[in-house]
Amino acid sequence: MATCKQIYDNMYSYLDGDLTSGQKHTVDNHIKKCKNCKTYLHNCETVNHILELMKDIPMDNEQE
Ligand SMILES: [Zn+2]
Repeated sequence: MATCKQIYDNMYSYLDGDLTSGQKHTVDNHIKKCKNCKTYLHNCETVNHILELMKDIPMDNEQE
């Protein structure tokens, strides 16, 4: 049984698809049972989504 800390440590890898299928399965199983980690995963997804959106913003506002 994975601890919440293990899940937290793997969360971004999970979202990036960098985990092995075994590790991914562990996270999936834990999240089904653990409300805290489910909420945390949701927050990470939101952050990831914002970071994706920011990639598309041109960084040309350095001219003064
Ligand atoms: Zn947990």
